[in-house]
Amino acid sequence: MPRKISLADGRIVEVECLSCALTSGLVPSTGGVIYESKNFHVHQDVAYPIRGLVIVASKRHFYSMDELTNEEQIEYISLIHKIRGEQRTRLGIDKVYYFYNEDTTHHFHLWMVPRYEWMKQFGNSVESLRPVLLHARNQMNNEENMKTVIEGINELRKELRDFVSNSG
Ligand SMILES: [Zn+2]
Repeated sequence: MPRKISLADGRIVEVECLSCALTSGLVPSTGGVIYESKNFHVHQDVAYPIRGLVIVASKRHFYSMDELTNEEQIEYISLIHKIRGEQRTRLGIDKVYYFYNEDTTHHFHLWMVPRYEWMKQFGNSVESLRPVLLHARNQMNNEENMKTVIEGINELRKELRDFVSNSG
């Protein structure tokens, strides 16, 4: 059954699976595609305006880590490794939180959440994640911050343009 989802940029979309909608291009992601291959689609998170918050979603619709094909497994780690490096060198991101769960209504996707100084007021590790995201959505959804978010997207896209993963 389709669900209504509110995006950070004000759009409300009604989709069965947001990951399918984003990876197929049916719903354009904020700031455009960062990277796309046969197996994966990389984009800025559409709900929480945090610079460098990257989502790595599979193109295929499935939920669990053990459903990755051999080729996808290899490309997955190679792609995450590349993105992480560019978050560091291009965006100055010192630490990243990785979040992924299998009981999602969207399909297989990894959140790469940069850890910034301002997030420390919400504690550390897993318990800080929800308040951090809500703070971003409620307090940082402004033009000035969105400009830095889009800048971050453009930086990463530039660096990933010629990336060829090790999937063979
Ligand atoms: Zn899907």
